[in-house]
Amino acid sequence: MHATHGGTCFVIFLNYNKTFLNYNKTNFMAQTKSSRQHISKSNGKTKQTNGNSGLEKFFEDALKDIYWAEKHLVKALGKMNKAATTEELKSAIEDHRTQTEEHVSRLEQVFEILGKRAQGKKCEAMEGLTKEADEVVEETEDGSVTRDVGIIVSAQKVEHYEIAAYGSLTQIAKMMGQDEIGEILSQTLEEEKQTDKNLTEIAENNINWEAEHEPADESD
Ligand code: FE
Ligand code: FE
Repeated sequence: MHATHGGTCFVIFLNYNKTFLNYNKTNFMAQTKSSRQHISKSNGKTKQTNGNSGLEKFFEDALKDIYWAEKHLVKALGKMNKAATTEELKSAIEDHRTQTEEHVSRLEQVFEILGKRAQGKKCEAMEGLTKEADEVVEETEDGSVTRDVGIIVSAQKVEHYEIAAYGSLTQIAKMMGQDEIGEILSQTLEEEKQTDKNLTEIAENNINWEAEHEPADESD
């Protein structure tokens, strides 16, 4: 995987292999289990591995990608919070910023379990998504509800990227027999899904109607 295309390639992998992962799950899991048992018998250790160094390397690279993305998001969500208009959206973003700090800590826990140093690798996809969010803020009027609509759209694009990343990482961890890591990642996955739902509710209940009735900005 080329470093500068890490995020993009990962998304392509997810879509392309979703069927593969599900279709081959039973056989792959069975193979993984038997190789794991073999390893634990041969060295007496409980450390789990599937012996597939290519997949392990891919998993580690994907962790570095999402680790960079989460750390970047802590800052980006702070900016979105300041830019948002309604109190409801501001507090939802602030809550998720706090959760995102927890996501960073969870990934550090995962690196620790793997016996690796927590290290980020620039996630081009997340950088692009947050740049788009900056543009939305620049192009909408300060204090407008239209800006909130734009921020919600940007934030949901971010959540969907995270849902794809954590969904696949959870699946791969389980395939590798790393159940503890799978549990940790699936906790974050559930929080990303819940955040996406919360944003939809805020948009539907308050913001979309108001934005539709807001006068257009005639300044340009
Ligand atoms: Fe997150
Ligand atoms: Fe998130």
